[in-house]
Amino acid sequence: MKAATIHARLDTCPRCEAAVIVALDHHTAALTVRADPLPLGAEAELHARLSGRLTYNVLGRKDLQLHLRDTEHMTSRPHPVVATHTCPGPIPATAITSTPAPAVPAEPDLFTHIDDDVPDGFPF
Ligand SMILES: [Zn+2]
Repeated sequence: MKAATIHARLDTCPRCEAAVIVALDHHTAALTVRADPLPLGAEAELHARLSGRLTYNVLGRKDLQLHLRDTEHMTSRPHPVVATHTCPGPIPATAITSTPAPAVPAEPDLFTHIDDDVPDGFPF
């Protein structure tokens, strides 16, 4: 089991083996959060809160972070919202396929002179 960091990652629940998002909920004095990777609508969030689960905004595009939603900011939903995990989770770990990282295009070779790009009659 890897230690949680501020950057969210997918993991599995050790009890029910559901897919969970694991992250720290803050940069300092943080708690480890295990959340279900299922975005919630307003009604589902209300149900989660009434059942005692905390909810989090999922921030970022590449390095995702979980930020606790407090009651002051619950009227707006600019980010996906997830709730703390409860067993059994809604998404089994086997439902999430591990896709290989996209191939990184090779960097252009800036040191090799290629005459093909220079139109005929170009003075330089
Ligand atoms: Zn679980």
